Amino acid sequence: MNDHFNQEVLNFIVCPRCKGEVRVSEDGTGLICDSCCLLYDIKDGIPVMIEEEAHCLDDRRGVRPAPDRVSE
Ligand SMILES: [Zn+2]
Repeated sequence: MNDHFNQEVLNFIVCPRCKGEVRVSEDGTGLICDSCCLLYDIKDGIPVMIEEEAHCLDDRRGVRPAPDRVSE
């Protein structure tokens, strides 16, 4: 099993939508952009940084994230 994502790799990865930082999800199987509320899958150790394939974390609330929302 190699499901531990290298934290250092995150230095080179940004969200394709907002170009902001992403973080590893709690279960380590994806990358989350808090600004966009999107979850990007990690497949075979490679993050799939494609906005169209990301999962919207706001689905449960039925609210789509504002595309130009500024955090902080
Ligand atoms: Zn983003």
